[in-house]
Amino acid sequence: MVDYGGVMVEPTLAQVRALIDELWPEAYAEAWDSVGLTAGDPTERVTSVLLAVDPVDDVIAEAEETGADVLLTHHPLLLRGITSVASDTLKGGQLTRLVRAGIAHIAAHTNADSQLGGVSDALIETLGVPVEGPLVQTAGAPDGVGIGRWGDREPTTVRALAETLAKVLPATVTGVRIAGDPDAEVRRVAVCGGAGDGLFDSVREVGADVYITSDLRHHPATEARDTAHRGAGLPHLIDISHWAAESLWLDRAAELLGEVAAQRGWNLRVRVSTRRTDAWTLRIAQED
Ligand SMILES: [Zn+2]
Repeated sequence: MVDYGGVMVEPTLAQVRALIDELWPEAYAEAWDSVGLTAGDPTERVTSVLLAVDPVDDVIAEAEETGADVLLTHHPLLLRGITSVASDTLKGGQLTRLVRAGIAHIAAHTNADSQLGGVSDALIETLGVPVEGPLVQTAGAPDGVGIGRWGDREPTTVRALAETLAKVLPATVTGVRIAGDPDAEVRRVAVCGGAGDGLFDSVREVGADVYITSDLRHHPATEARDTAHRGAGLPHLIDISHWAAESLWLDRAAELLGEVAAQRGWNLRVRVSTRRTDAWTLRIAQED
């Protein structure tokens, strides 16, 4: 801790933005992604940051209610092109609301996925699996930076791993689902925080026994299992809530941001959203 004689300074948005870029470099983001500053005046002083997975209405309301100056979300607010910011459009309305409340928005998306200690690290480390490497190394980035993670653990079963996930993840109505044999032995685990159905080739390449990711749709899941059956039956699949999986990163990101801000003598309060932004609200149980 640097001694600033007890005097804490209020950083500018530009300084906070630069620190976020140091911690989760925008250069590590995928080419299709949209990360960094979406809204806000870089010259303004800021004293509080709210971290969340999704920049949805409920989270924007929380930022307003808690007096946040910066909303840092994992998912971008603007990913696809818009031609209007009129307040009667979805994105225009959200942007207008942020601007009126004087709240800046920053996204740390695939740069936070790729960075060491990022979103997939938070997920795999929750399961006690030491990380061997990424599923796909990010070109031009240091070794180990990339999308997804894999590693080896003491033998367990797909079912036991899924039950652990059900305990450590925040509860959602979709819960935890298995495709494959629940009683199969698992040593090598691959994960991808977020929608990871584009990474099956890499998962097979590292020889993972199980692949944990989110938003597995019917066709990618059935094709992955049919492909598995042509070999050793691997990988078995565990599907978890996209929001729940990525929310695991928020606490460690907030802690890191808060620590470095304090080292710099900044008066910056960093909080994690308490809102659940999983889309699903009810599951009707069916009889067999
Ligand atoms: Zn995501």
